[in-house]
Amino acid sequence: MARVRYYRDLGIFDFYRRDVLDVGIVADVSEQQIPCVARNDDPSIVESEEISHSAPELWAEQNPEDRDDMARKTIAPPVASDQNLVVAKSEATVSDPVAALKMIREDIGDCTRCKLHLQGRKQIVFGVGNPRAELMFVGEAPGADEDQQGEPFVGRAGQLLNNMIKAMGVTREQVYIANVVKCRPPSNRTPERDECDTCSPFLMRQIAVVKPKAIVALGAVAAKNLLAVESSLSSLRGRWHEYRGCKLAVTYHPAYLLRDPRQKAEAWKDLQMVMKELGLVAPKKPAE
Ligand code: URA
Repeated sequence: MARVRYYRDLGIFDFYRRDVLDVGIVADVSEQQIPCVARNDDPSIVESEEISHSAPELWAEQNPEDRDDMARKTIAPPVASDQNLVVAKSEATVSDPVAALKMIREDIGDCTRCKLHLQGRKQIVFGVGNPRAELMFVGEAPGADEDQQGEPFVGRAGQLLNNMIKAMGVTREQVYIANVVKCRPPSNRTPERDECDTCSPFLMRQIAVVKPKAIVALGAVAAKNLLAVESSLSSLRGRWHEYRGCKLAVTYHPAYLLRDPRQKAEAWKDLQMVMKELGLVAPKKPAE
């Protein structure tokens, strides 16, 4: 009963088992998906592209020895989510993803569900971008800049993420960006398990509305919470995973790349895998 109350509190009223899900979490959303990323449907062009494994130069704009204000102090344990539980929600009845996302945001309200509301958060950082995005990035939790501005990934890690997005041949406006946890943890510590467990249903609902073709989990917290596994980041990178009908790739968190820029080449390999799947082509370098 307590469990049901918990889901009701999140505005979730109907429960189905996973085998029902495969026909679509928001099956009523009949509206055709509008392609949102610069697509190149000619696979030969992608195939013939020279795959460069060194990170594009525009990633190098960051000063690597700057203090990384997004450094996390501990690694969050994975969420113990009920993988079989599929949630149908009131937003499943609306076909407009803008309206559906608004409903989720309204359900969150001025959230007091976990202790983060008492620990100095200024505002809830919901998500940003194209509600019909084919590509979605999921981070961990807002930092100081995000808490201040109410938008995910606007600080230094966000600038690097913007460069990564650009290098993939898309813009920040074309993708959707959200976090597992929507409130800033104090001192940018890693969100704790109860915080992830409380907040991640909202992320799952955002994903169900946006229905991206591909999700990129940025860092271990996003990967472990979405996939509900305890594996290391390195064992999850470099291959596709499945998340409720979406392809999911795992790569390093931009804040980690700021601390260890040598890993940018590895991250670029992960992003190239995603680009290939979505038919994206890296922009040509401007002529010198
Ligand atoms: N790091 C995250 O994981 N999310 C943000 O929004 C900003 C930094």
